[in-house]
Amino acid sequence: MRLEVPTFPHPHRSFSQMQTYARCSEQYRLQKVEKVPEQMTAWAPQGNAFHTGAEAWELSGRQMTADEAVDLAVNEYDERIAKQREKQPEDSGWLTGGRTKVDVDITRRRDRVAEHMRGYIDYSLANEAVFRPAELPDGRPAVEVPFVITVNGVTLKGAIDLVLKWPETGALTLRDLKTGNKLPNDALQLSVYGLAWWRLFQDVIEWGDFFMCKNNAPTPLTRLLDYSEAYIGAWLEMFDRSEKEGIYLPNGGDHCRVCTVRKYCPLMGSPESAGAYLMPNLKILNYNEMEESTLER
Ligand code: SF4
Repeated sequence: MRLEVPTFPHPHRSFSQMQTYARCSEQYRLQKVEKVPEQMTAWAPQGNAFHTGAEAWELSGRQMTADEAVDLAVNEYDERIAKQREKQPEDSGWLTGGRTKVDVDITRRRDRVAEHMRGYIDYSLANEAVFRPAELPDGRPAVEVPFVITVNGVTLKGAIDLVLKWPETGALTLRDLKTGNKLPNDALQLSVYGLAWWRLFQDVIEWGDFFMCKNNAPTPLTRLLDYSEAYIGAWLEMFDRSEKEGIYLPNGGDHCRVCTVRKYCPLMGSPESAGAYLMPNLKILNYNEMEESTLER
């Protein structure tokens, strides 16, 4: 019997969707297809707030003062947290990624937004002679550059955080801003953005880095051309096809610690909560029947 498995309606894909799917496609299913009530986190508003401040500061041609940029970012954080708190007032509905209490985590991350903003501005100004945002053809700084491209028949949508120009050589590099603690394992995201830049402007960017706010410094430059359009297109297409086929597998690991849908996961969650959102082929058995069938073997 072939099962009809619901899939995500996908007018377009994004890099983060593909990344989530590759890490744990069951997490993808619970978030995007089942849309289960996710646990709230303060790290998402922290990332959004920092990006809002950094983008505004860069788009002002770096004319905005550091205090103004910090105020903007912190206000954004406060607003997002307030909305989430209203939606989920119970601490049990929040995830801090450890034993830290929710209010303590929220306060710490608020301080971090301001600290990261000041650090980013100081670092950028100190290195202004070495690199600064490139200019788009219309004269705007190359900041949060939006793109919609089609690769192997799949439409991919996103935005490039920053393209930098190095005046000494005239070279361009890509930069993605990270507020989390974990260094990305590879440069695939940057390569995808390099491909998008090529499609937008027929211009090759060979190198890129991640600006790690926790270190207040970028990672060493990494070569983007190692993941060519052929690789990116094939992976994107495989992700798209697998998802359309309704293929979802739980993949337990360290990342489960920060999984906002863990409660509903058949691998890591509680039987009661997970039971309501099981894949159709798992719903054939309820948990008691599963126990019995295990005992019989
Ligand atoms: S708890 Fe782990 S295995 Fe389960 S959905 Fe989340 S990331 Fe996947």
